[in-house]
Amino acid sequence: MDFRLGEKSEQLRAEVREFLDEVFTAEMRARCRASGVQHDPEFSAAVRERGWLALGWPKELGGQGRDPLEVLAYTEETRRQDAPIYGLSTTMMVAYVISLMGTEEQKAAFLPKAFAAEIVIALGFTEPENGSDAAAAATKAVRDDDGWRITGSKMFTTNASVADYVFLLARTDPDAPKHRGLTTFLVPVHQPGVEVRAVGTLSGERTNITYYEDVFVGDELRIGEVDGGWRVMTTGLAAEHTASFSGEQDRLLAALVRWAEATTDADGRLKSADPAVRERVGRSRTELEVSKLLLRRSAVLRARRDPSLVGKGSMSKLFSTERLERQARETLELIGPDGLRSTGDPTAVEDGAFEHMVRHAKGTTIYAGTSEIQRNIIAQHTLGLPRSS
Ligand SMILES: Cc1cc2nc3c(=O)[nH]c(=O)nc-3n(C[C@H](O)[C@H](O)[C@H](O)COP(=O)(O)OP(=O)(O)OC[C@H]3O[C@@H](n4cnc5c(N)ncnc54)[C@H](O)[C@@H]3O)c2cc1C
Repeated sequence: MDFRLGEKSEQLRAEVREFLDEVFTAEMRARCRASGVQHDPEFSAAVRERGWLALGWPKELGGQGRDPLEVLAYTEETRRQDAPIYGLSTTMMVAYVISLMGTEEQKAAFLPKAFAAEIVIALGFTEPENGSDAAAAATKAVRDDDGWRITGSKMFTTNASVADYVFLLARTDPDAPKHRGLTTFLVPVHQPGVEVRAVGTLSGERTNITYYEDVFVGDELRIGEVDGGWRVMTTGLAAEHTASFSGEQDRLLAALVRWAEATTDADGRLKSADPAVRERVGRSRTELEVSKLLLRRSAVLRARRDPSLVGKGSMSKLFSTERLERQARETLELIGPDGLRSTGDPTAVEDGAFEHMVRHAKGTTIYAGTSEIQRNIIAQHTLGLPRSS
């Protein structure tokens, strides 16, 4: 059994590192931090130029046909550096759904634009009253001639402020069982009746609440079958519950090691020789390794279409985010008051990386399925316990 990613993946990783050094400049990083928006058109254009928008897609669909471990190397590196890839990944995720389930007209209309990084598509599943239970969506779409009238609201529509479309889950049959009366639409953001309002988060990321007031959407923007929206949405989100935050763990550990090698205590001894620091570093390194191995297993299971991915992927998300949260808190305690200064302060240690990660880590345990939901999935799918009520 070989636990390494392999030569092709390491080659790609080296290319991604070089690319990020060149393209993801300090100025761009500062711009993303200041706006809190996880999307940057200049960065997206550079990714497009490298042909990396659809690394793992089959070649016949316009992708590069890279194997899952290569895709993983790309993801690990971009996340480790906090590159603004979220807008790209939601757009390509929806594009993939369209390539599988869209009409020929939809493929012709949207895929070239997605491949040109000309459009941004945000995800509109969560509502103010339901998130984990997305199937309880109350936003409704009602037939109107050759289209639909959509009314409701979506919470946490990240990137809606820079998006062209929201991929929205709406209730089309209020009388059907909740998973069966839903349909997905691509709702153009820039039209009367759509309002995007900023929602600030603990980590400084900007997300949004989006309102839809009797918004007309032509039937040509319906993705998949009427009342078949649950299947469309879950096809798109298949990878979400297996998301891993090992990139963040890696980034935090690297910052801690740099700090420990550059900082001395009152007696002039390097912090890297301090047993408390070494203990934290050793533990973080081990936890990072476990996260990476869990993620590698998920990538292999996904490639094999192995159904055990459902519970095992959740382990990857759960472990990496909960350890990240603890790692961030304990690292900040170790560094002390110096670690509290934020980015932008010229005296901030590691440009505020430590205090930022404490705030950022909390969110990772919520989006892409909360820790409670992941634990439920693990209990149900790996131990055969009944579904949670
Ligand atoms: C920064 C950020 C960005 C996001 N971006 C997007 C986005 O772009 N698009 C989008 O659609 N959504 C997005 N989300 C929403 C995210 O997916 C939801 O917040 C998440 O699914 C939880 O839903 P909720 O907030 O409604 O909490 P709820 O589902 O109301 O849960 C509240 C609490 O109850 C617990 N709980 C719920 N059900 C169960 C159960 N069955 N068993 C045990 N415990 C349970 C939860 O774990 C949680 O602790 C984002 C969220 C954040 C914080």
